[in-house]
Formats: sequence, C-alpha cells, structure tokens
Amino acid sequence: MGQIIWATTNIKSSNRTFTTKSCYRSLENNVASTSSSASFDWRRFWKNRSLCLRIQTFIWRILHNGLAVLSNIARFNSSVLSICSFCKDYEETLEHLFLQCSFSKQVCFASRLNISCLRDVSSLHYLLSDWLHQPDDCYTFNLGCCILWHIWKVRNKSVFDNIAPNGSLVLRNVIKDFEEFGSRAVITLDPTLLPLPSLPSLRVAYWIPPLQPYIKINVDGAFNSHSVPASAVARDCFGIFKGCGTSCFSTLSFLISEATAYLLGVDLAKRLHLTNCIIEGDVAAILKFISGPDIDIPWQLKAIIGNFKSTISFFNDISFVSVPRDANTVAHDLVQFTFVSNVTDWWSSIAPPSCISNSLRQDRALV
Ligand SMILES: [Zn+2]
Repeated sequence: MGQIIWATTNIKSSNRTFTTKSCYRSLENNVASTSSSASFDWRRFWKNRSLCLRIQTFIWRILHNGLAVLSNIARFNSSVLSICSFCKDYEETLEHLFLQCSFSKQVCFASRLNISCLRDVSSLHYLLSDWLHQPDDCYTFNLGCCILWHIWKVRNKSVFDNIAPNGSLVLRNVIKDFEEFGSRAVITLDPTLLPLPSLPSLRVAYWIPPLQPYIKINVDGAFNSHSVPASAVARDCFGIFKGCGTSCFSTLSFLISEATAYLLGVDLAKRLHLTNCIIEGDVAAILKFISGPDIDIPWQLKAIIGNFKSTISFFNDISFVSVPRDANTVAHDLVQFTFVSNVTDWWSSIAPPSCISNSLRQDRALV
C-alpha cells in the first residue's frame, strides 16, 4: 500500500511529513517550473518580508505567466478579443500591459521610480530581477511591485466594471501601500487624504531627419484578433513627405505584425526607387532577428525574415533602426487610421493622407 510523503522534507529525515517550516523552506528554495522563472532569485524574493503576501503572490503569478491577461485567455478561447483595455492599440500580454503600454509607462514615469527607461527593458523577469538586486533594502522592488499591483487592479476595474483608468489615482494608491510597507504599520492611511499626483507629458523623443542622400521610412504595426494593420511613411532630410503605404492582413502574432511593417517599409522603398534608406520602427526585437543568425529566428518569423533578407540585397545601402515610440508618431498615426479604416493603399508625395498631416508638420518644425 502506498504512502503520501512530503517531498521537500530533507531526504535523510525519517519523518517526511508536512510542516510549515519545511513548506517555507521549499518556497525559499523554489525550483521554478518555467525556464524564465528558474533563474529568478526566489530565496531573496521570499525573504523580503516587507511586502504583503498578496502582492508577493501577485508577482509570483506574473513571473510564472499565471495572470489572466487577455492574450492568455485568448489561447483557450478564440472568441476573446485580446486587445489592451488601456490603449486599445495592442494585444494585452503581460509585457505589454506592464512595460509597453502608454498608460503604464505614464504611471511608472510619474512615480518615484521615474522609470522612463522602461522602453529598454525587454521583460518583466529582467525588470523584477533588477529591482530585487538594487542595494536599497527592497525600496525599489517594493515600490515597483506596488505599481504593478495597482496597474493590475485598475486594469481589472476597467475590464470588469468599465471604469476608465486614472493614472493619478493609481499613483495615490501606490503611495499609500508603499508608505504602509515602509513603516510596517498595521494602520491604513486614508488614500483620499493624499494629494493626487500629476502626470507629466511623456513625449521624450523626437523624429530625427536622415542625412542626405538618405530617405527615412518610419514603420509601425498594430495588432488585435481580427486584422493587423501596418504603415510606412517616407521623408527626406528636410522632413518632406515622399510617399506612404498601408496594409491590412491577418496574423496571430504581434511580432509578425511588426516584421510585416518593416517589410512594408522595404516595399515602399522599392516603389520609390530608393537606393539609400533607413527603415525606422519602434520594436527592437525584430531587428535582432533581421541582423542575427537564422538559427535564432522563431519559426513563425522564418518565412518573413527570409523574404526580407532576399529583398534588401537590391539596395545600395539600407539599414534598420529602432527608436522610442515618441519618435515614430507619423507611422503610428497612419497605423491607427489603417486600424479603423482597414485600407490597404499607397499615397504619392503630392497628397499625404490627412491623418498624418499634423504629425508631419510637428516633425518638420523640429528639423
Ligand atoms: Zn496598452
């Protein structure tokens, strides 16, 4: 007859029964179930007693991809529209919701962490690991976790109660929780007594014109469950509009949508008979695959990157760069238009579409 034993108890112990001490030790020595969480410093994580267990558990779920973001739900239910409830612009993945979404960036930027560098952070795992190892007695880690927690709460209110997200309120609740953790006080501050923090403008980067004789083509792609629009806009060293194009297609991958946007940029360069050009977008991950060895390319991207590499051999000089999203507003405005209108088309230098006239003018003013 079999016997139930507590596997994490010391193997040499004759009494392999469950105890809270052995359970806690197992959490400290947690052998994670996914490759990304395996390298996380769980011992340090669980030793941080200044964060409440509710938020610790929430972070643990993030690091094990166990949060019910819409992209995770859509994997099991194809009828779920996995578009981000904050920006309504991109697929709601964990990384998008907490790192890339304009709403979350604004909250992080305005917080005491001043995380304006979020665009350079490739994963939540990396970010949390970095926070955890700051030599500040978990100040950064606790504050960052409070921010993620309250972004998640306000996201849930938006999804389930249809309450519009308010970045100032998020920050106020973050400060309340964080003050409590800092003082380790049991009492709760009344959040309404705290001032509402103001949110700064987030435009931190601008379009930079190419040097003569180069033409710069800005590209962007968006993503939801139904259609995937892409845009490409060409301008010269004076910021003068040279032509643009849009396309709409179906794919199940955000990376494919961005890769296709770069490919649309190459198509536009061919249509304009360019020999020297720069294709500029705001997704660095794609560039890694374009310039890296074929073996690193995910299978979903192999065909499109292969197409890419054969096409660019026709150019005298073509390069691909990634910039912050603020420097890519023209392509972004055009992809928003495409998102709504579902239009696939090309525009000549004579008449740019009206949806980008503002951003074209703003960029030119800075040249
Ligand atoms: Zn978003």
